[in-house]
Amino acid sequence: MKLRLLLIFIVSYILVSFGWLTYSLVNFSNKEYRLQVKVLQAGRQACVLRLIEKSKNDEFLSENAIHFKFKQAEIDADTTKMNAFLKGFNNGSYQATYLKAADEWKLDIDIREGELARLKSKLNNRVGLYSFQAILLTILVGVGVYGVFNSVQMIYRLNKQQNNFLLSVTHELKTPIAAMKLMLQTIRTRKLPDEKRNEMLDKAISNSDRLNELAENMLTAMQIENDNYTYGKEAFLITDMMERLVESYRMRTELSADIEQDIEVFGDRFILRISMNNLLENAIKYGNDEPLDVQLYTQDGFAVVEIKDQGIGIPESERKKIFKKFYRVGDEEVRETKGTGLGLFIVKETIEKHGGNIKVTKNNPRGSVFRVELPLYVKK
Ligand code: ADP
Repeated sequence: MKLRLLLIFIVSYILVSFGWLTYSLVNFSNKEYRLQVKVLQAGRQACVLRLIEKSKNDEFLSENAIHFKFKQAEIDADTTKMNAFLKGFNNGSYQATYLKAADEWKLDIDIREGELARLKSKLNNRVGLYSFQAILLTILVGVGVYGVFNSVQMIYRLNKQQNNFLLSVTHELKTPIAAMKLMLQTIRTRKLPDEKRNEMLDKAISNSDRLNELAENMLTAMQIENDNYTYGKEAFLITDMMERLVESYRMRTELSADIEQDIEVFGDRFILRISMNNLLENAIKYGNDEPLDVQLYTQDGFAVVEIKDQGIGIPESERKKIFKKFYRVGDEEVRETKGTGLGLFIVKETIEKHGGNIKVTKNNPRGSVFRVELPLYVKK
């Protein structure tokens, strides 16, 4: 928030400065133009005086001289000589007009045609250039500041996510280890009935499974990230995989399932099982202990897996982000559910590598639906 305010302030400051600079330059050019016009007009006056002076000295006289009325004076001058003088005076900025009316020649000296237009167009060009530069600089600064803002935000977000990751991994590692230690110590120090002892051993095994799953997820995520993972290439029955997964999850939660038979896909059965497992784990974790529903069916050349829970759901604004590495909804320090933010990253990467796609929508009346589509295996 503070960063945003600071950036808004900097951008506003730069924009105001550009605006002010451009305004000053345009203003200066306008003044310069007006001054140049005045100089030209004053120069005309000087030109007239010089012309009169020269004609008094008979410098324009010849056999072809004409008698002119010029202002309050009368002069005799040859037009060719007079034109030559005008051409050499002040870069030829002035011209003479000769008019004969009622047998009387009149002479007038004026600023050369096009001279004022040239100054005006020079002014317009400058104003155009300044405006263009101001717009270009504003765009460049805008893009630059936006880029900096985005990068800083990304670094901040990554930092936060990595912190979250460390916090949750520590928690994920410590909890099953502590539970296993406690159970094994109890088995060793106390004489327990066989049934109780087996129950504790089962719990210890399930905790070690949890550790194994975490290690598997971290390793897979790392391999995927580094493009080191070699995907298996075989046709296999996703029907069997889903049936086995559903059976194992039925032991942990209430679950309805509708699995279509004989659906075959092509790819890496190991990583696809990890992916489906991640989706089911999440459905339990964020499912508020409500029943789950799992479906497998075919549609338009795809095997479709839908996993529905009735839990906390995912706000619309978060639905794209949850597939990013380390991303978890909410704040780690106040969160109660365990996790690393790697599960859905693996799922998305895996499904897309298999030519499929994954989508999350809202379940009715509450919870989430994760829909996975994988291309059906076609025998060649
Ligand atoms: P985690 O280890 O945190 O579960 P995931 O990558 O599997 O990591 O999921 C990322 C985040 O997406 C989770 O932290 C959670 O906030 C959200 N999420 C995933 N699945 C669900 C679900 N079924 N219901 C609600 N939120 C979910």
